[in-house]
Amino acid sequence: MAKILRFHTGEPHHNGFTPEARQRWEGIPPDVRELLLANAYCAVCKDVTTILQPGGTMDHGALVLRGHCATCGHPVARVVD
Ligand SMILES: [Zn+2]
Repeated sequence: MAKILRFHTGEPHHNGFTPEARQRWEGIPPDVRELLLANAYCAVCKDVTTILQPGGTMDHGALVLRGHCATCGHPVARVVD
């Protein structure tokens, strides 16, 4: 029997982005966004990786992207100044 994933309705953000972070993220050119996602450092792989399923929050004026390492699945984050 399949597990049913339950999502809260009325969440203020989509894909893990807060409204402020999403606005900031969407203000970045698509090609730059791709570069940012493809150049995150994974502490487990000790190498550069791609962030999968990215989300974001704002922290003291900087956008913090959070997602999972494309190689090992470990949570990775990177700050976008
Ligand atoms: Zn990794």
